[in-house]
Amino acid sequence: MKISNRLIFVIILAIAADCTQKTSTTTEQDTAADTAKSYTMADFKSLRKIDTHVHLNTDGKTMINLARANNFRLLNISVDVPDFPPMEEQVAIKAKHYRENPELMAFGTAFTLQGWDEPGWADRVIGQLTKDFEMGANSVKTWKNIGMVAKDKDGNLITLDDPKFDPVFTFIKEQGKVLLSHAGEPKNCWLPLDSMTVNNDRNYFREHPQYHMYLHPEMPSYEEQIEHRNNMLAKNPYLPFVAVHMASLEWSIEEEAKFLDRFPNASLDLAERMSHTQYLTQKDREKVRNFFIKYQDRILYATDFQENKVTVPSELEEHMMEVWLNDWKYFNTSEMVKVPQLDSPVQGLALPKQVIDKIYRLNAERIFPNAWKGAEDSQ
Ligand SMILES: [Zn+2]
Repeated sequence: MKISNRLIFVIILAIAADCTQKTSTTTEQDTAADTAKSYTMADFKSLRKIDTHVHLNTDGKTMINLARANNFRLLNISVDVPDFPPMEEQVAIKAKHYRENPELMAFGTAFTLQGWDEPGWADRVIGQLTKDFEMGANSVKTWKNIGMVAKDKDGNLITLDDPKFDPVFTFIKEQGKVLLSHAGEPKNCWLPLDSMTVNNDRNYFREHPQYHMYLHPEMPSYEEQIEHRNNMLAKNPYLPFVAVHMASLEWSIEEEAKFLDRFPNASLDLAERMSHTQYLTQKDREKVRNFFIKYQDRILYATDFQENKVTVPSELEEHMMEVWLNDWKYFNTSEMVKVPQLDSPVQGLALPKQVIDKIYRLNAERIFPNAWKGAEDSQ
């Protein structure tokens, strides 16, 4: 009995060793196959790409020149942000860049809430949008001031599902344009600084305490912000919609998936939420990778780069190249990537080429048809 037990033990060990060997061979083969299916760092420059979220608010040419040199087209977005130039000026600057570089610098407009309480607000906004669309604007952006800052004459916060917006959103849809919306904030905004998941949120909310909702418990909750946005979409199911900043659902792959399932005309943009996505990758890489593969038609590559009056060209160039290359490495390779927003490195997703083609270009060409004049779209 003793001998046969020992024999069985030896056999089990042998089988176990054999399995281990098989597993490691399979993994090596998988990695080799994945590599063949994925782009490399050497492909970055030559592939045609679109960054669907930048803010070029001056006559500066740094962003444009760097985009051209790296085969990027851009969507230059206007926003009703206090630090940005007044709306008319923003749109005029963007329209000028578009006229000078129609193949490269598509642009979006926005509107303000000025005169909200006076009769005819929506008609005046529609009048302005009509002119902006004539100049070539392909989209309209709403910002987080709706829901978090702006109030009506009675002191109530104005929310995105307010019926007063309905004619404006209907007009955008009828004109074949796209609504881009930054609604709410990352969930970190409702947490103390030391509980936030990424360094960029910690820095932003340290510098902008007025938007740090953890400090303002009297303000609506995170869930309420999301609900107002979703109510608006439920009322406007056919409106082409990009939920920028990963729909402010950056903390949960499940929530992002639920959102896309519920609203078939909505897409997500990655602007300033790469680090949150990478944080989730550190927790469960397979889950994040599967999400990008499943929703490959619904996600847009975007950065949120800004160029304004105080921009130092060399600093912007360095920043843009660092971000573009880090993002490319993360999406295309399985290497470890060190990003400033996270304290430890993240392993890249090594997504298949066809997924990258969609996230980096084809989805933008479909969602913003003919936005970049003279650049041949592939569809
Ligand atoms: Zn932005």
